[in-house]
Amino acid sequence: MRSVIQEIDNQDRILIPEIIMEESGIIKGSDVVITHNDCEIEIIKHESNRICVFCLSNEKLIDFKGKGICKSCKRYVKKENNG
Ligand SMILES: [Zn+2]
Repeated sequence: MRSVIQEIDNQDRILIPEIIMEESGIIKGSDVVITHNDCEIEIIKHESNRICVFCLSNEKLIDFKGKGICKSCKRYVKKENNG
């Protein structure tokens, strides 16, 4: 894990350092998922099997035919299908 300190510019943007882009495998023009929890912000590559296809959570994922679905959404979908 690598940490850097970056300034947020006056248009609310941050620059992801090249070394982190390289090491994380994120390429220019690709999509990322930005999530926050209280005062923490997480940026992850948008890969359909690493985030829930419904709520974009990356916690407690289950692989479903190559796509990620979180346990909460799986329970909801199952409940909706059972009436
Ligand atoms: Zn979900």
